[in-house]
Amino acid sequence: MRKIQMVDLLGQYHEIQEKIDVAVIDTIRSTAFINGPEVKAFQFELEDYLDVKHVIPCGNGTDALQVAMMALDLKQGDEIITPAFSYAAVAEVAALLGLIPVFADVDPDTFLIDTEEIRQLIGPKTKAIVPVHLFGQNADMAEILSIAEEFNLYVIEDAAQSIGSEYTFFDGSRKKSGTIGDFGCTSFFPSKNLGCYGDGGALMTNNDELAAKARMFVNHGQEKKYYHKTIGINSRLDSIQAAVLRCKLPHLDAYNARRFENALRYNQALSGIDKIATPCLSVDSSHAFHQYTLRVSAAWRNELKDHLNKNNIPCMIYYPVSLHKQEAYMDICRHGDLPVSEQLCKEVISLPMSPNLDSEQVDYITNSIKDFININSNYQEP
Ligand SMILES: *Cc1c(COP(=O)(O)O)cnc(C)c1O
Repeated sequence: MRKIQMVDLLGQYHEIQEKIDVAVIDTIRSTAFINGPEVKAFQFELEDYLDVKHVIPCGNGTDALQVAMMALDLKQGDEIITPAFSYAAVAEVAALLGLIPVFADVDPDTFLIDTEEIRQLIGPKTKAIVPVHLFGQNADMAEILSIAEEFNLYVIEDAAQSIGSEYTFFDGSRKKSGTIGDFGCTSFFPSKNLGCYGDGGALMTNNDELAAKARMFVNHGQEKKYYHKTIGINSRLDSIQAAVLRCKLPHLDAYNARRFENALRYNQALSGIDKIATPCLSVDSSHAFHQYTLRVSAAWRNELKDHLNKNNIPCMIYYPVSLHKQEAYMDICRHGDLPVSEQLCKEVISLPMSPNLDSEQVDYITNSIKDFININSNYQEP
């Protein structure tokens, strides 16, 4: 058996090595390192794939979120509502812009923002909802759009973990993750579902005016070179990364399908065990399985992690601390009770997941988990 990686990036590279090597060397020879034709071509191909009017490539997913907030004219003191159980990027850029992150609790089964909580947290300063499509599954966008309309709020989707997944509306129409709100933001960090070989990110929008503003903000606030209309930032996707992404984009659906197959194989082996909660599939979203995350008892979650590590199985705790308890944000955020987020931080464990994880490896991992459960059969259910 091959050594198990949390994300098998080398295995993925080997599958398309010839294409990648040629694309990277050609880009070097072109010397168009910044804003070259590869970046434009990738932009058009991603617009086409996502069926969205505008893709604005940028330096990383965190910048994409910041630029979305800047382009929507969010100002000091404005509030944005976002889940407490998530990565810190949304809270971080909000705080940098002087906005107040307002943390909502999440659904204990899907780990996605609780839309009832959103309603309760809306106040006079609330300007935007920033759902995070955590682990690859889309938040309840139909309800979020309807709340946004009712209270006149913007919607920024954090689609860093969900690219390629689809959300289905009541009428059966479907949209790709990140193309539903005023802005969608994604990341091409190497371990993401569509990852490059460095940093990268993009904003998505169907609004011409917002697209023009975002393009200006990622480029030093310039509309025309050396004419600075506003204070922007410098955030670019470089040409070599775009060349890598152009090689991978045609495979994204197949990559996500292989992640899904691995998730089903995990489910088959683990769903019969009453001490373990396998991931819950949402009714209105497909799942890109950026992460395969179990819930187990807080009493032995860390012991399970140690057991897997001892058996050469990497695993991760996404996320160990709820955002409202993070030192950086606890004094500047607003929130109510967050019992689910707090509990999840103690119970979740993410197993290795990538398109290049094979069935032999999945079986080895699930057998190792079963061994642990059998040895410790007196442990309590989650
Ligand atoms: C990775 C990630 C980001 C940030 O992307 P970077 O490209 O690393 O800046 C933001 N939000 C979520 C949910 C992420 O997983």
